[in-house]
Amino acid sequence: MCVDQSYPREFSQEIADVVRRVHDLVPMMRVNAEVLDRDGGFPVLELNQLRSAEALSSVIPKRFGSPGIGFGTIGTIALFDLLRTLGRGNLAVGRIFEGHVNALKLIFLFGNEAQSRLATEDVRAGHLFAIWNAEQGDGVRLSNVPAAKLAGTKVFCSGAGYVTRALITASTSDGVRMLLIPMQPVARVGSSNLKLHGMRAAQTGVVPFDGVAVSAGSAIGEPGDYTREPTFSAGAWRTLAVILGGIDALMDETQRQLISRDRHKDPHQLSRMGRILIARESARLWIRRAACIAENDKRSTAAITGYVNLARTATESAALDVICLIQRTLGLAAFLQANPVERLMRDLATYLRQPAADEALTEAAAWFTEHPLPDGEQ
Ligand SMILES: Cc1cc2nc3c(=O)[nH]c(=O)nc-3n(C[C@H](O)[C@H](O)[C@H](O)COP(=O)(O)OP(=O)(O)OC[C@H]3O[C@@H](n4cnc5c(N)ncnc54)[C@H](O)[C@@H]3O)c2cc1C
Repeated sequence: MCVDQSYPREFSQEIADVVRRVHDLVPMMRVNAEVLDRDGGFPVLELNQLRSAEALSSVIPKRFGSPGIGFGTIGTIALFDLLRTLGRGNLAVGRIFEGHVNALKLIFLFGNEAQSRLATEDVRAGHLFAIWNAEQGDGVRLSNVPAAKLAGTKVFCSGAGYVTRALITASTSDGVRMLLIPMQPVARVGSSNLKLHGMRAAQTGVVPFDGVAVSAGSAIGEPGDYTREPTFSAGAWRTLAVILGGIDALMDETQRQLISRDRHKDPHQLSRMGRILIARESARLWIRRAACIAENDKRSTAAITGYVNLARTATESAALDVICLIQRTLGLAAFLQANPVERLMRDLATYLRQPAADEALTEAAAWFTEHPLPDGEQ
């Protein structure tokens, strides 16, 4: 059972401690988010704090001596909570953390025992992981002649220059493979670094891999494992949990500003606030359930990925509604650079751009037109 309670009492002390330590970082993350957005910095302080809070290592499986956040029912709820909390503090930090979790999940799922042990040691030694999925064709290629070397560039690499363990996808003669590449900090970042509208602190850059030698133990899993379902699509619930935190932050800030301008009792403002609350709660219910379903492998693959894909569209719609309502609620004040809402809206609007949105919706619709939607408690 994955019951919908806001703070499950079943959390072990270890998990509860990690979750609480991350909650405590939110005020610092919020203040620093403005500085990072303005000056284009990477959240080094936040990641150091997350390391000290043992959050980066909390997502290792229990068998390696970690609290096992992200594994099993309670671990899934704890991960939902952590990702949402980080999104509430700073969406860019949430994105970096989610990439770290995603890369590790793939290594523990598809890697062999030695690779899993090495990844565990690396995380404990402080390494930051990321998944950089290079586009097929124009992306990164692996050639075996005369020695295994990479060629090509990956666009959209979060944490470029800061991530020290990059799980990349590369085309090979056998198909697309995952390769774990050790990175030097602040090296191999392409000169055409991207200037995104929002999410600037995620330092999403272009990374060239030309000439990088690939060692024998770099390949994680078999060709095609990266896109193996349901893992590939169902993992999107984690991104949605971070996005939910971004909606929370926007709502918190809007309520605060309405109250400080003494406009919060106006019936029109209350009506909009009601719609914002409904949108946020709808997203929360979808995402929480998607998380539970994604981790419940008793369902068919199409049912799992279909549900998570519907949650993607539901969350996108809710977040876009919230942005529109907040612009009307605060008026031009929401567009002043000095107003935190301006940055929060840019970050959220940017992070909402996730791959193949149309396909996610229509594939899910095709499945659930002929099969029932899951209902009842999961
Ligand atoms: C802040 C941020 C950080 C990121 N960091 C990373 C990272 O660390 N690693 C990483 O691998 N990626 C990263 N990405 C990239 C991400 O994984 C996606 O590639 C990106 O978000 C895709 O967004 P898109 O809107 O361009 O998607 P697209 O899939 O291009 O969709 C754009 C529109 O085109 C439609 N569409 C899609 N395909 C087709 C088609 N074949 N024909 C017609 N229409 C189509 C879609 O439905 C949608 O309406 C990051 C993205 C963001 C925003």
